[in-house]
Amino acid sequence: MSNQSIYWNPVLETLPYEKIRKLQLKKFQRIFSWTYEHSKFHRTLYDNDGIKPKDIQSFADIKQIPTVEKSMMRDIQGKEPFPYGDALCVPLNEVTAYRQTSGTTGQPVYQPDTWQDWEWWAECWAQLLWAQGYRPKDRVFIPFGYNVFVAFWAGHYGAEKIGCEVVPGGVLDTRARILKIQELNPTAMMGTPTYMLGMADTAINEMNINPADLSIEIITCAGEPGASIPSTKKRIEDAWGAKVYDHAGATEIGAWSFECTEQPGSMHVNDAFFLVEIVDVETGEAIETPGVRGKMIITALDRQAQPCIRFDSKDIIEWDTKICTCGRTSKLIKGGVVGRTDDITKVKGVLFSPSSVENVVRGIEGLGNDYELKVEKINDRDKITLQVEFLQNYSEEMDKIKSKLSDQLRLKTNLNYEIEFCQYGELPRYPVKAKRFKDLRK
Ligand SMILES: [Zn+2]
Repeated sequence: MSNQSIYWNPVLETLPYEKIRKLQLKKFQRIFSWTYEHSKFHRTLYDNDGIKPKDIQSFADIKQIPTVEKSMMRDIQGKEPFPYGDALCVPLNEVTAYRQTSGTTGQPVYQPDTWQDWEWWAECWAQLLWAQGYRPKDRVFIPFGYNVFVAFWAGHYGAEKIGCEVVPGGVLDTRARILKIQELNPTAMMGTPTYMLGMADTAINEMNINPADLSIEIITCAGEPGASIPSTKKRIEDAWGAKVYDHAGATEIGAWSFECTEQPGSMHVNDAFFLVEIVDVETGEAIETPGVRGKMIITALDRQAQPCIRFDSKDIIEWDTKICTCGRTSKLIKGGVVGRTDDITKVKGVLFSPSSVENVVRGIEGLGNDYELKVEKINDRDKITLQVEFLQNYSEEMDKIKSKLSDQLRLKTNLNYEIEFCQYGELPRYPVKAKRFKDLRK
C-alpha cells in the first residue's frame, strides 16, 4: 500500500453503495450456506423456521432469518466439540486461537478462530487504523494486559500488517507504561477511554508528568463508547495532546466500525465485511430511516470457525443521513454506539441513557472524570443519584459549578437528580472498563 493513499483498500472503501449492497448479498448467501452445512446449532435453528440457503435471494429474505442471542451461544458451550459446542464449523485442529468475551453480563462466551479468521481480524483492523492516520512510520504502544480477551490482539496484528512498529505494554503497570512512552516516543496508542483518562491522571498526579508533553499523536479507543461522547473525547484529546478516534468491535462479531480522521461525529460501518441492520427494540421491525434509534443486528460476512449471523448485539445505534467527506462510501452511524439495550432504561417514565450523563459531567470544567450513578425505588418513586468529584483547585467556584451541572442535566436528560459532591479521589477508579451506573430497582 502506498503511503500516499488515504485508503487501505481503495477499491472496497470507495465502492459505489449499490455495488456494496450486491457484494453484501453475495457474501451473505455464501456464509449462510457455509454455516448451514457445517454448524448443527445453526441448521437446527433455521430448519425450525423452514429456511434453507436457497431461500435467501434478497435483503427481504435475510430479514426473515431468526436472530442469534448471546445466551444461545452460552447454552451450547461445553458440549462437543469441547469447549465450543456444535456451532463450530471447522475441525478442532483447524482452530488456531481461543478468545472469550469479558463476561460483564454473565458467563463468558468462547470464541474460536482459524488462521484465516485471524487474517480477517488483522485486515479489518489494518483498514480502520489506516483510516485513523496510522502509517508505517508510526510506533504504536499498546498499554493493555494481553489476555484471553480479544482486545487489543487484533489491533496489534492490524498495526503490524500496516507496517507500524508495535510495542506491547502487556504486563507493565501504569507508571511503567508511562515511563516506556517517555523512553521510546511512540506516536500512537490504543486503549479504553476509562484507561486513557486514568493513565493521564496517574502521569499528572503521581509522576508530575504532563501527558500532553509526551509523543502520542493518535489514540484509538475501543471497549466503551467514550470516544464518541463529545466531552469525554475532548478530555482525552486535551490530556494527551492527541487526536482520539473511536472504534467499535466485539469478540463474537469482529471489528465492524470506526471513526476516520475527518471526525464527522459518526462512525463508518465496515460494509464490505459486515452487514449491519437496525431493528426496533420492542417490535423487531426493521428501521431504515436515519435518526431513529434501534438495536443492531449484525452479520460478519467472512468469519468461518464460529459464524456470526444476524447476531443480536444489544448495541443501540442510528443511521446518519450524511456521507463522509473522506470519500469512503460506507454508511455512517450517528454518534457511534449510543448505548446498550441492557443499560437503556426508563427512569420516572423517561427513557434514560447513562452516556448522556457522562457527556454532561465531563463537559463541565472543575469536575473530575469519575462519577457514579444509581437509581433506586423509594416509596414507589424512582430516585436517581449522581455523585461527582470537584477538582482541587476549583473549590471557590463550587456554587457556580453545582448550578451549571443541575441545569445541564435537566436540559440534556429531562430528569432531576440528587447530586452529591465528593472530594477528588473519593469515588471508585476502574482499571479498564467502568461500570458507573447501578440500577438498584431490579
Ligand atoms: Zn470518513
